[in-house]
Amino acid sequence: MTAPVVTHARTEFADARGRFGGSVGVVMTMGALHEGHATLIRRAREENDAVVVTIFLNPLQFAAGEDLSRYPRTLQRDLEICEREGADLVFAPSPDVVYPDGEPGVRVSAGPLGGVLEGASRPGHFDGMLTVVNKLLNIVHPTRAYYGQKDAQQLLLIKRMVRDLDMSVEIVGVPTVRESDGLALSSRNAYLSEADREVALCLSKALQAGEAARNSGPAAVRRAARDVLVREPLALVDYLVLVDPVTLEQVPEYFRGEALLAVAAKVGTTRLIDNVPLVVGGREA
Ligand code: AMP
Repeated sequence: MTAPVVTHARTEFADARGRFGGSVGVVMTMGALHEGHATLIRRAREENDAVVVTIFLNPLQFAAGEDLSRYPRTLQRDLEICEREGADLVFAPSPDVVYPDGEPGVRVSAGPLGGVLEGASRPGHFDGMLTVVNKLLNIVHPTRAYYGQKDAQQLLLIKRMVRDLDMSVEIVGVPTVRESDGLALSSRNAYLSEADREVALCLSKALQAGEAARNSGPAAVRRAARDVLVREPLALVDYLVLVDPVTLEQVPEYFRGEALLAVAAKVGTTRLIDNVPLVVGGREA
């Protein structure tokens, strides 16, 4: 594998980007890369002539008191993963490169879908996320952009932004990559002690239990998932919901079809999220 071109400034990025003909796939990350990110890069590699990875810890999507200052920073290791997965070009700017005039006055608003679930617990998070995604799409000009299903609400909002604002990029969702015991890979797993990690398993176990009950309807799915979570008092559950994957509204008991079972919980000092898409009421379908 040849090492990717690594750029930090806009001009050097634009020079390198300008040398690509053909299709370009982009994977946007906040660094601390793991196998989830690697899977996105691999998918982009399969489907495009050139692959760009952005590594940018976006201050705009962290509220005061969140984990921006302690978020893991592992650039050298990240670049090794980019090389191993065949990325052609890395853009790793600092905040003053992305926001040369300081915090932007004009931002993208996530609208009502940005105010529920993660948005309810993290006010402003999705406006900050969409603003930087929009900027990076404008800087990179990709054919396709790849995002993980792990962050289901983020993926939904990016798809909505692209459709609602008539942006010309294809958004590709990639299934969640998990450890062999079910724990969803996350850069934030680095915060977990060994004991925390055991506790954290209740999230994916709850989703599995909910999924197993999918043929019996929404109440059974919610009950099965909740039963797992209540047995783990060390996980402080923020929400456990079974929602319509497009509106993010709780599905009613008569609902049959595609739904999203999503959970957020604090384990130790770490806030974790996970979800599973499922078809509810398979017997009737
Ligand atoms: P992050 O660096 O956490 O902002 O994540 C960058 C991208 O990787 C986002 O599109 C995430 O949804 C995706 N991602 C993170 N964890 C996983 C995972 N376990 N499986 C698949 N994609 C993931």
